[in-house]
Amino acid sequence: MKAIRLILIFLSIAPALAATTELDSLLQLLDQPAYIHHPEKAIQLHIQLGSLYGHNNLEQSEESTKHYHLALDLAQKQSDFEHVSECLLGIAISYERQNRYEKALEYYNQLIELEEQEKFDRHKAKAYSNKTGIYQALGDYEKAFEYQMKALLIYEMRNDTLGIANSQYNTGSIFFYQKQFEKALEHYQIAKKLCEEKNIRRSFYSCLAALGTTYEKLGQHELSLKYNQQALELAEELQSKIGIAYAKGNIAVNYLAQENDEKAETLLLEAIELKLGMGDKFGAIGTTIDLSKLYLKWGKPTQSIPLLKNALRYAKEVNSKPRQSDLYQQIALAYDQLNQPIKAYSYTKKYIALKDSLINEKTLEEMGQSKRRYELQKQEHEITLLKKENELLAKNDKIQTQQVYLFAAIIVAFIMFLWWYRNKLEYQNRLNRLLAEKNQILNAKNNEIHIKNKQLEHSNEDLQQFAYVASHDLKEPLRMINSFTTLLNRKYDKVFDERGKEFMGFVLDAVSRMERLLDDLLDFSRAGTQPAPSKWISTSDVLEITKANLNHRINSVNGSLHIEADVLPLVQVHQTQLMQLFQNLISNGLKFKGANDPVVTVGAMREEERFVFSVHDNGIGISKENLEKVFEMFRRLHSREEYEGTGIGLATCKRIVSTWGGDIWVESTVGQGSTFYFSIPNSAVQLPKESLSEALA
Ligand code: ADP
Repeated sequence: MKAIRLILIFLSIAPALAATTELDSLLQLLDQPAYIHHPEKAIQLHIQLGSLYGHNNLEQSEESTKHYHLALDLAQKQSDFEHVSECLLGIAISYERQNRYEKALEYYNQLIELEEQEKFDRHKAKAYSNKTGIYQALGDYEKAFEYQMKALLIYEMRNDTLGIANSQYNTGSIFFYQKQFEKALEHYQIAKKLCEEKNIRRSFYSCLAALGTTYEKLGQHELSLKYNQQALELAEELQSKIGIAYAKGNIAVNYLAQENDEKAETLLLEAIELKLGMGDKFGAIGTTIDLSKLYLKWGKPTQSIPLLKNALRYAKEVNSKPRQSDLYQQIALAYDQLNQPIKAYSYTKKYIALKDSLINEKTLEEMGQSKRRYELQKQEHEITLLKKENELLAKNDKIQTQQVYLFAAIIVAFIMFLWWYRNKLEYQNRLNRLLAEKNQILNAKNNEIHIKNKQLEHSNEDLQQFAYVASHDLKEPLRMINSFTTLLNRKYDKVFDERGKEFMGFVLDAVSRMERLLDDLLDFSRAGTQPAPSKWISTSDVLEITKANLNHRINSVNGSLHIEADVLPLVQVHQTQLMQLFQNLISNGLKFKGANDPVVTVGAMREEERFVFSVHDNGIGISKENLEKVFEMFRRLHSREEYEGTGIGLATCKRIVSTWGGDIWVESTVGQGSTFYFSIPNSAVQLPKESLSEALA
């Protein structure tokens, strides 16, 4: 069985074999300060070098061991256990490749001890697995099996497919050595399936080779050849010399079975050469035995014996008892053919002694126990995993329930939101409808008001027109009546008796009253029609003129007129209207006098948004209920006998003021006098510059 050793070496030669350029550049780095002063970097560099030398041919194994040792020293000083472990593994593998099994075992054991002590798990499984290989080579199958089970357990816990595949492969190999070929097949098949699934091609090669060899042992030559050829193709594809060597050796065995001896010999010789070229003495032994069998078949024991003895030397060198056993048997057979029975017997004895120690009931029993221990531990591990899974599931259940609640809450919130939104929309629509209705009503009302206003404007205009036309046109016939009545009175004065004179007096009086009435009406109708002037007029001048106009009347009632204002502004109103306004108010002040001589005072004051004039008198006053009424048209509070008048004056004043945008009102106490106020908006008022600051102050 050659493939068994193959995987150990083969898997560790994963990267390119020739990496000399990389080696050179790494070696140059060694002397650089960055590496001298930084142990962490130096550790990594030595490990890299160790690994690269390790992957080169076997002669460089010593170099590999040297660099791993350097890295190991540094890592130990740094208490960098992970790197210590990596170095121990590197050293062990290196010794193993040199067939220095004792040394290799020593380092593997150190590694396992360290990882167990420091409680971490980096290379332990690999160490167990490699120990298996060594014990197998040494023929200690109990130990090999025990360590393989340990490695498998770790790989399974880690869910490491490559590790599991290798373990299954190694287990198969142990069964193979125990000549339990069916069982070996089972394990090889599992390993092959795993490698296929994960596309681990190098290990897949090993499985193919192992299956080929096992089917050969079971006498299924065709199946064996099929696997071996597949293995050879893959090895060639992977450009693996060692793979090619083993595959050729195995196919040679197939040819032997088919009696295709020449081809077998060629292949066997090629395989031996390749293996020895790679320094694989162990592998070369198996192939040598096969070649020797062929020579014996050909009846050429003399050709076979030196080869076998040479191989025996190798087997002793690598301390492989199974190989020694096989070789003893072959040498015995060769001597037998050579007719040297004593020598043959001596080798047969050696063979039997060794074989018994290798395969016995006890070994199988121990292996069974190891397997049971492994299964027990595996079960325990699975139970822990199941427990963890259950806990996770319970947690998941809890999370799921929470998620369901959360989802339900979100749905409820969403429904509530929709409901609220629908209500809001409905409310908004209702509101909009109401607003639209209200607007409609308002618009209708506005229209109505607008129409009414228009109607009012028209009737106002008509009224004004009527008043104007009436008063204007009536004045002409009235003047005629007046002139002819006056003429009649003058010419026929002597003709009239007392009654006639009295009647004539009535007519004249009525005529003059009618004249006054018409004048007042004309004033009133004019009041609202004149457009606002653009000219500024001085209120002071207006008051002076008014005063002059009223001078006669003031004197006739023994009254007085005072103007008491700090500032009299310029205003932008019609001069005649303003004059008429002052004249009406001052005249009333003089007219509605009480017992005392009338005193009328004109005042002026600036308010925030308007300018207010006042006309104060010391007359009879106006009762509270009549304060508003006096501004109505034709409203008179006294009889004609008491105070003459038409009742149009204040109505005209109000009309004038309102055309300016101002107000008119009266404050009064009966028996003490009245104060009439009117205002002009600031927009139509301008203070003389010198008085502006004073007024504001
Ligand atoms: P008239 O003076 O022609 O009667 P007005 O329109 O000027 O008409 O005045 C309306 C009425 O207001 C007056 O008849 C009078 O009763 C009252 N009135 C007006 N001014 C004063 C005043 N200064 N003092 C008292 N009563 C007044």
